[in-house]
Amino acid sequence: MVLEVKGITKHFGGIQALTDVTFQVEKGEVFGLIGPNGAGKTTMFNVITSMFPPTAGEVKFSNRTLTGMKPHDITKTGVCRTFQNIRLFPEMTVLDNVTVGQHCRTKSGVWAGVFKTKAQKQEEEKIRLKAMELLQLVGLDDYEDSFAENLAYGQQRRLEIARALASEPTLLLLDEPAAGMNEKETNDLFELIQKIKELEITVLLIEHDMPLVMKVCDRMAVLNFGKKIAEGTPEEIKNNQEVVEAYLGREEEEELA
Ligand code: ATP
Repeated sequence: MVLEVKGITKHFGGIQALTDVTFQVEKGEVFGLIGPNGAGKTTMFNVITSMFPPTAGEVKFSNRTLTGMKPHDITKTGVCRTFQNIRLFPEMTVLDNVTVGQHCRTKSGVWAGVFKTKAQKQEEEKIRLKAMELLQLVGLDDYEDSFAENLAYGQQRRLEIARALASEPTLLLLDEPAAGMNEKETNDLFELIQKIKELEITVLLIEHDMPLVMKVCDRMAVLNFGKKIAEGTPEEIKNNQEVVEAYLGREEEEELA
């Protein structure tokens, strides 16, 4: 097992965002975290990435305890995430947005460019080539010199994923990557997540797009009011009465409305 979430509880004052949530993600899985708005999904991402401490419980990744680590040290353990609201550098080029993501893995500091040695120039070229590879993977290699802010919405989301991949994660957390995407963009995203899986990167996915979730996830956990109400394969979740009542039924009603 690669990720172990054990008895996580998180309170914000009087709000119980998560109550005793436990699940495990196996190496190489695409694992979904689904549930209605406010169920605690993003809070779980924030706890896993140590953006804030849990009230109780522990998160382990590859047998290392993440709970209590500094957020920037979490990236070094091989865990990286994207955010619900796109967080790119809009006035930087597409290529530079990705090279920035590699800095936690490089030897020269960000300022080393001021006095460039041969070794630093070679490292820069390596970074550029790696970034171009990632842009190719996400289908943005024709846009390397465009400013991030000029990309279409779906492209910006894919660029965010490329930037996250630049830190060479073994666990990638995607927070609603299909939000606001049209059908074609969602389909491209499905293919991209499959390619990421082929690279043996484990994926934890928060997503409301149920057709995508059911197609791409190996297993998933369902949260409702901060509690885990089910866990299983897409088939098991689709046929779980409690999940249908708490969430899936409601999603369908919203789609029909
Ligand atoms: P959505 O699908 O809408 O993104 P979610 O399942 O990700 O929802 P969370 O964003 O984790 O849900 O929120 C769970 C609960 O915790 C909500 O009641 C939310 O208002 C609360 N909450 C989340 N973050 C904070 C915070 N930093 N301070 C106070 N309350 C918070």
